[in-house]
Amino acid sequence: MTTTTLGQAPARDGFFATTFRTSVFPLFLLLVTPPLVIALWGTIVFLDGSLLRMLSAEGVTTIVQNLPAPSLPALGIIFAFLAFELVLMLALPGKKFLGPITPAGNRPEYKLNGVAAYFVTHAAFIGLSAGLGWFSPAIVYDHLGAILSTLCLFALAFCLFLYFKGAYFPSSSDAGKTGNPVFDYFWGTELHPRLFGVGLKQLLNCRFSMMGWSVMVVSYAFKELELYGTVSNGMLVAVALQNVYLFKFFYWESGYFTSLDIMHDRFGYYICWGVMAWVPCVYTLSTMFLVTHPSHMAWPLALALFVFGVFAIWVNYDADAQRQRVRATNGKTTVWGKAPLLIKARYTTGDGKQHENLLLANGWWGIARHFHYVPELTLAACWIAPVGFAHALPWFYLFFLTILLVDRAGRDDLRCEKKYGRDWQTYKETVRWRMLPFVY
Ligand code: NDP
Repeated sequence: MTTTTLGQAPARDGFFATTFRTSVFPLFLLLVTPPLVIALWGTIVFLDGSLLRMLSAEGVTTIVQNLPAPSLPALGIIFAFLAFELVLMLALPGKKFLGPITPAGNRPEYKLNGVAAYFVTHAAFIGLSAGLGWFSPAIVYDHLGAILSTLCLFALAFCLFLYFKGAYFPSSSDAGKTGNPVFDYFWGTELHPRLFGVGLKQLLNCRFSMMGWSVMVVSYAFKELELYGTVSNGMLVAVALQNVYLFKFFYWESGYFTSLDIMHDRFGYYICWGVMAWVPCVYTLSTMFLVTHPSHMAWPLALALFVFGVFAIWVNYDADAQRQRVRATNGKTTVWGKAPLLIKARYTTGDGKQHENLLLANGWWGIARHFHYVPELTLAACWIAPVGFAHALPWFYLFFLTILLVDRAGRDDLRCEKKYGRDWQTYKETVRWRMLPFVY
């Protein structure tokens, strides 16, 4: 997903690699991903999640005949949810948090009230639907095709708006065009766009997309209940694990503001369209499949998947927390009971000022430079496992995430090499493996 390496290709990239990364591949994704979202939804809903049927003439005809048109109810659901999350973000109390210094030397400000927003959102969704009967708790699944097609189109247009906003009315000095319109639309023209004072990355990445994901899978479980009169234990495991993961996300929201999506990737198609249209479909695909394919597993297996999944969430969280704690305390902490092994990494921002960061070289960050991606993948496997092995498509998220994280680990290495130079080399010499010891 990230792009410093896409946008500012390192010197060792040749012409072909640069053109491929900045034009050919972005154009390919722009053309392929919106129809893919609709095709994935259609395959899950009408073709039993079968990749072979999806690729057959019968499958293509079925998908085309059932193409979901954007609808007013879908637009209403999307905007009601967005408005609700905006109000929660602005109104709920929360501490101020200053994000990392940007390449141009700015520091974005956030309000940390994600945990409260998570509870209010779920209480409101379940209370107003299942409790008061204002709408069906299966509302998201019932309008899913139209919601996804509306999101695909709306987000495409919104990214165009962001392109011009960043180019002509940027919110900060971390903005500008590279001159390649394909790449600028794809990657974005602004790092931290704001609208009427609202940080769009926090609103759309966190409160719309991640919060939306947690509500969507709950709605899917209610749909299974409506169809079969019961919720299978496979669905329970999937929904519970995703919600533990997403609750952790909001608990750790300040950490997310130091992640690549926020501090490095600009807000263009790659991130903005990704969080608004790709996440709601691809990330919930396996749970969408479970709605009409209930998964009744042996309870010990269901329990084992849940416990193992929660363990993976903890490892991932603990790894993220270790590197943040080390920086927040300026190294005056312990990592796995020992003094942290630290590398001082110096860098210069666009305004010419010199800065220094700490790189942790023991704990999870001593196993490999991106070991925390391994539990991220393990967790996904745990919540997808209830779909079984009859079809590959419900596993699509895991395939996608593997490619994404392997690529991301490589690009982060390049980004840090560029930022820290010799000091990053020292870290690489100390921690040899990129993601998984002896494998990658
Ligand atoms: P990372 O957590 O990998 O952070 C990368 C940044 O951390 C680097 O750019 C560098 O930034 C800093 N850093 C790197 N090495 C060290 C070190 N040894 N010590 C201290 N700081 C270091 O960012 P991600 O955004 O990839 O991941 C954040 C979380 O999001 C993870 O939990 C990941 O699993 C999850 N994730 C989930 C995805 C999904 O779709 N499900 C996709 C991607 C990530 P600096 O410039 O500050 O030095």
